[in-house]
Amino acid sequence: MKKAICPGSFDPVTLGHIDIIERAADIFDEVVVLVMSNRTKKASLFTIEERISLLRRCLKKENVKIDTYNGLLVDYARQEEAVAIVKGLRAMSDFDYEFQQALTNKSLYPECETVFLCARGDNMFLSSSMVKEVCTLGGDISSFVPQEIADDIYKRCKGDK
Ligand code: ADP
Repeated sequence: MKKAICPGSFDPVTLGHIDIIERAADIFDEVVVLVMSNRTKKASLFTIEERISLLRRCLKKENVKIDTYNGLLVDYARQEEAVAIVKGLRAMSDFDYEFQQALTNKSLYPECETVFLCARGDNMFLSSSMVKEVCTLGGDISSFVPQEIADDIYKRCKGDK
């Protein structure tokens, strides 16, 4: 059984993430969406538990599981015997960082490959930070996030619980 991991902060999950996860699920036998806290990013909008529950409401495929880990990604990959880490690539600006990460992970755990899937054209400039910014300023995010969770994001950005 070939297992892949789609890691990220998913704060919150966007249609860009969903597209990559579902395409990965068509390629691999099992995909684990791994919710990680990102040390380099500013304060989060949703807690890890909330992000998991938002993801759960949007991901319907049977072979997609959700988990969280706060250690090194390759340690999780080794423990789960994952054969691949799947990442979405947007504009060239993603490339330097992702390439560096992929090379580091490969040297730490050579048995696991990083697989890049190109973002769909209409998701090319979509990011969780962009969603938070648009939403906080009162913009329409309905074409950026799954409709199941749009209201949760509106409420949180307005400062409601
Ligand atoms: P973000 O970069 O939006 O904060 P994450 O850190 O949660 O998102 O990213 C998790 C993974 O999803 C990364 O591989 C990232 O490149 C990918 N990703 C994020 N947004 C998109 C998108 N719009 N299209 C394709 N892949 C994406």
